[in-house]
Amino acid sequence: VVACSQCGRLAVFEYPEQGLRLCIDCAYKIEQMTESQHRRLRAREADLLRQIAQVTGDEMSWLQADAIERSIRPPSQRNVIMNNIHISDSQIGMINTGTITKVKALDITLSRVVERGAPEFSREVAKIAEAIVNSGLDSALKDEAVRNLHVLANQAALQSGDRKPTLARVAISALQVVVSTSADLAQLWQAFLPMVLSHLGLPPS
Ligand SMILES: [Zn+2]
Repeated sequence: VVACSQCGRLAVFEYPEQGLRLCIDCAYKIEQMTESQHRRLRAREADLLRQIAQVTGDEMSWLQADAIERSIRPPSQRNVIMNNIHISDSQIGMINTGTITKVKALDITLSRVVERGAPEFSREVAKIAEAIVNSGLDSALKDEAVRNLHVLANQAALQSGDRKPTLARVAISALQVVVSTSADLAQLWQAFLPMVLSHLGLPPS
């Protein structure tokens, strides 16, 4: 188990250039810090271009300043590139950033599951993750559900001998509680559960 360089929790991201390994929360904090620094610099650049445009009357500088300002707005929720889980930009704007970070981490694990030869499992997890994230559940429940889906995805990414059936069971029970608060999610769950159980080699409950 690799520990986060900042807080000692389980590390999920590696930054070889900085010699850092970070957990989800610390990675998120650092991402936010660099992002806001980057935005400040770009905003200054846009200001300078406008000053140049005023002095010289250069149209091109105006356009460049506009383009820069477009690129730095809205904050922190741009560039959500995911390969498995599809959430539209307009929906992303409604989702709390902590949840987005967890969804990104899940997406990375799902890619590993695909590489391990289980694209269907990955697709089904992505489908229910999308439904949960887009649902009207409160954000703490969404976070919990995404975290538990990640546990299941991690299990699926392991060789069958390395899996921990008890851990998968705990995640499944936790998810069951969350999805039962919404009729739509509960319905999706009905189809999802047997697929997960059979894929992870767990007996039907
Ligand atoms: Zn940490």
